[in-house]
Amino acid sequence: MRVPRVGVLALQGDFACHAASLGALGVDGRRVARPQDLDGLDALVLPGGESTTMLRLIEGQRLREPLERFLSEKPVLGTCAGVILLGGDSAPLPAPPFGVLDVSVERNGYGRQIDSFCAEIEAKAVGGRFPGVFIRAPRIRRVGPSVEVVAWRRSDGAEETSEPVGVRRGNTVGLTFHPELTSDLRFHRWFLAEVAGLDVPEAPVSGATTGTPAARGRS
Ligand code: GLN
Repeated sequence: MRVPRVGVLALQGDFACHAASLGALGVDGRRVARPQDLDGLDALVLPGGESTTMLRLIEGQRLREPLERFLSEKPVLGTCAGVILLGGDSAPLPAPPFGVLDVSVERNGYGRQIDSFCAEIEAKAVGGRFPGVFIRAPRIRRVGPSVEVVAWRRSDGAEETSEPVGVRRGNTVGLTFHPELTSDLRFHRWFLAEVAGLDVPEAPVSGATTGTPAARGRS
């Protein structure tokens, strides 16, 4: 069995934590900072961080077109700032987002950094409850007809106050929270196995370019 190769966009943000989660699942996590880094990848992760900075660096590294091509063909998981990049309108941004998910996303939709929070979310795809880490998170304000909601946040336990925090269209997934900042690997495993259809070895690969434990916790 070939070990799946999964890229993590490594221009800015918490890419090392995603690489560590992929490594813990036995996947070969590779940093992507140049167009040629996309060659031979089975899937890609767009991490959390600062969407404005990432968009500027994407243009500066001439990654826009290669990423557009990759996103139209291969499985992609975007978390937090990654959802902003995958979504439709999220002004103000220095360049248009990629628009592969028909959602409207409000940047910093819960407030400033100090308003960051943890909340339980509900996601059937991963078997129910999951710890949601929301760091200056975007808020999904509109979900288009082509998009399925895969994770909900219930602010006070009532159905009518639920809001979407995870969306999927085909092999593209966007989460407004940070599964890579928990030790719970269910979202990564689900994305790799169910969405991307890859064989997940479930055991760390020696020599894989995973993040160090010291890098975990940054965003
Ligand atoms: N607030 C950031 C942005 O607008 C996203 C925060 C995050 O990725 N944790 O890009």
